[in-house]
Amino acid sequence: MLNGKTVSQHQSCIRPWWHNIIVGVLLTPVSGVALILLSLLTLPAIAAQPINPTSAQQPLTLQTDILIESQPLTLKDIMQVPESDWQPAPEDINQGYDSRGHWFRIQLDNKSGQNLDRLLEIAYPLLDFIEFYEVSRGQLIRKIITGDELPFSARPIANTSFVIPLALDAASTKTVYLRIQTQGTLLVPLALWQDTAFWAASSQQTVWRSMFYGILLVMAAFNLFLFLSIRERAYFYYVVVVLSILVLMMSLHGFSFQYLYPAWPRINDRLLLFIVPFSQLSLCLFASEFLMLKKRHIYWHRTFLILAGVAGVMAIASLFLPYALSTRASVALALPVSLANLAAGVALLIQGEKNARFFSVAWMSLLLGVLATVLHQFGLLPSVFIVENGIPLGASIQALLFSFALADRYNRSKEAYFRAKENQLEALKRQQATEAALYRASSHHELTGLPNRALFESIIKSDAQQGEKTKLSALFLVHLLHFDDVNKTLGHEYADQLLTQCARRLNTLANQCAGIAILEEAPEPSAIAHVEGVSFTFMLTGDTRKEIIEATRPLTEGLSNPIEFLGLTLEQQFVVGCSFAEGNDVAPSSLLREAFIAFDQHHHFHGQIAIYHPEMNPYSPRRLMLMTDLREALRTDNLALHFQPQIHLQSRRVAGFEALIRWQHPEHGLVPPDEFIPMAEQTGLIKPVTRWVIVRALQFCKSLDQLECDATVSVNISAINLREPDFCAEVCELLNANHVAAQRLVLEVTESAAMADPAHSLAVLSALRKAHVRLSIDDFGTGHSSLSYIRKLPVNEIKIDRSFVTEMSHNQGDETIVRTTLNMCHDLGYEVVAEGVENAETQTLLSEMGCDVIQGYHIARPMAPDAALAWLEVTEWARRHIPD
Ligand code: C2E
Ligand code: CA
Ligand code: CA
Repeated sequence: MLNGKTVSQHQSCIRPWWHNIIVGVLLTPVSGVALILLSLLTLPAIAAQPINPTSAQQPLTLQTDILIESQPLTLKDIMQVPESDWQPAPEDINQGYDSRGHWFRIQLDNKSGQNLDRLLEIAYPLLDFIEFYEVSRGQLIRKIITGDELPFSARPIANTSFVIPLALDAASTKTVYLRIQTQGTLLVPLALWQDTAFWAASSQQTVWRSMFYGILLVMAAFNLFLFLSIRERAYFYYVVVVLSILVLMMSLHGFSFQYLYPAWPRINDRLLLFIVPFSQLSLCLFASEFLMLKKRHIYWHRTFLILAGVAGVMAIASLFLPYALSTRASVALALPVSLANLAAGVALLIQGEKNARFFSVAWMSLLLGVLATVLHQFGLLPSVFIVENGIPLGASIQALLFSFALADRYNRSKEAYFRAKENQLEALKRQQATEAALYRASSHHELTGLPNRALFESIIKSDAQQGEKTKLSALFLVHLLHFDDVNKTLGHEYADQLLTQCARRLNTLANQCAGIAILEEAPEPSAIAHVEGVSFTFMLTGDTRKEIIEATRPLTEGLSNPIEFLGLTLEQQFVVGCSFAEGNDVAPSSLLREAFIAFDQHHHFHGQIAIYHPEMNPYSPRRLMLMTDLREALRTDNLALHFQPQIHLQSRRVAGFEALIRWQHPEHGLVPPDEFIPMAEQTGLIKPVTRWVIVRALQFCKSLDQLECDATVSVNISAINLREPDFCAEVCELLNANHVAAQRLVLEVTESAAMADPAHSLAVLSALRKAHVRLSIDDFGTGHSSLSYIRKLPVNEIKIDRSFVTEMSHNQGDETIVRTTLNMCHDLGYEVVAEGVENAETQTLLSEMGCDVIQGYHIARPMAPDAALAWLEVTEWARRHIPD
């Protein structure tokens, strides 16, 4: 012993071999791997003082004494040191972190009778400086200086361990002095090998290590591939973890120094210092990413980020800091890192996270490896391969398990992805079906299933934009009349069925019209759109208006045929409104509006199709202005009433006068009643107009009286008047006020006006008839009312429409119609008036046919009251009915 201080220091510095193992358990398994491996290399000694010539490998602890320098000593100094300063070496020489120089004295006593060639191995590759002195009989015979701070070429034998060949002569003694000084752990596992045994063991070790490196490399490559294909960061961090384990192990084994940079010993030093914190950094990042802590456990995530940050700083600092400080800092950091890893794994495991299960098992496997090594070192486990190599095996299994866990996670995420895809697809299908149903519901009429107005308009619009050039298009609006009655008599359910049947028939008929626009091909071609209630629409194209109207003939004729329903034969009355558009400039919504306007005024039309013209539009500026002016004209009495005589053919007397309104507009001149009466009907002005006409007509009647003329006055009333509940009372009041007998007043109603609201019309007309007012059906033949219905109306006379009369003298067809109508009406007991008689031939013809009364330009044009009275003075026709 040099002095007491040295000895006490020596004792305190010598840490038991398991100290490192405990530290290894506590520290991250990676640094644990490093530290535990060091302990592994120390093997228990077998007592045998002399050299055993037959043993392949002989530990040297029993032959070794140890001395720690308190100041640098030379070989000379050491050889003079008193024997008492030498201490026998412990079973395994592990001095911990001790940077002082350590002297080892090994007595090699060859008692055998043969020369022995042996290899002295120091199986710890990280010792900085090793001085080797071979002394025989007090003489230095060989000196070698090596260590991992010197280039690899300084070694007498190329091996990861430090190996020195020794020649031991028969029956001789040799002393070997070793001076070892190192910044890291001072671990000196000494053994004496037979040459062949050493190389066999060494190459065996190389094989196992290479296998281990290979596994790690394959793992890294596989996960790198996974990372490149799915771009998930966990895989990348895993690759970094595996590679840093690989680098760490290769450095610890001295493998990389021997094969990768044998000339640069400093690299080995710094790489080891760097790789430990760096692997901690990658482990923290991996753990956070793998356990998906950012999304679910933000505090754990932050913890790992902080640890990773510190590890990163440490890794960089390791390149500059002194060796001793750097290693201590790395080891200190390893504690929180490993604790965090274990705690996070367990915490998440408790929460039942599948990822954490794999994660924790992976860490556990490494710890098991460590534990196995510890137990082996305690002699509690037999010295078998699995136990001896517990830590590299544990690390490999950990790497494998991480790898499996990642693959499993990959699978699960793929599965989840495909499930999500499937769900998405299903949801998409459902959505599409719903959308289709919604689309159908929103674009088709719920009852008839025909395209609705919106769909019709959009189809027509896009057809017009894409379609080939058309000269003329026409939109038709078919309105079924008196459907209310059907509702009332059959009930809504049957009425709905009837409407559906009518719609189907309409569609079939429309499909027969040339130039029809097909709206939908599937499920069956539909040309008709169901606009609303009992209104339907369709589109035709053609070259001329005439051609288009002609093309609708199959439809109008077909619709006129009665429909069979519930065993009944029903006549379905209808009106058609029509609006034309030139070229491709088709705006279906305005065409539809125009067709509605035309339809509204159908009772002013002759025939079934009411064709729109701009004057009809109630919202045209001219019309709005006219209505204001009409109101004003009524107020200021600026209207006139003209009278046109009617002649009773048989008695050749003046039977009556038809009152026809005239409006001389100050700016527009004479506005024909055909134009302003429909407007007055729409604006409600018709009420005061009719009242004004009746008053004037009755006044005229009184003027007739003065000329001793008992002719009647006919006043045209409109459908609107028939809907006024007090209309009859008002008429009677006016008759009374003007002292005119009810029989002198004839009210003319067009057949379509009478049909517009049959129930109401019938009531009003019956009341009038009861009050002895005479009633006349005007424009007979142009509507589509059935005579059977007319027959229910309490009317006295029928006026055959002038369109049949005017040309009957040279139109056989017209003549036949007039004759048939005449006979039929006579048979039913009506008096018949023929209006529009423009020539003598017609008069004669009508006379021959037995027509009762004629009216027309041939007799006289409508005249102002004075002119009419003057005409009465000069006319050949008798003024009075002279009873026979
Ligand atoms: P309407 O009731 O059919 O009247 C007969 C129309 O035929 C009158 O046209 C008359 O001038 C015309 N007319 C008479 N004889 C002949 C003839 O030989 N040949 C031809 N081509 N035409 C003839 P106006 O006065 O222009 O009246 C047109 C329509 O206006 C009337 O048709 C009637 O529906 C309506 N209207 C006229 N005045 C009134 C009125 O005071 N109240 C109502 N509500 N409507 C009226
Ligand atoms: Ca009339
Ligand atoms: Ca008429």
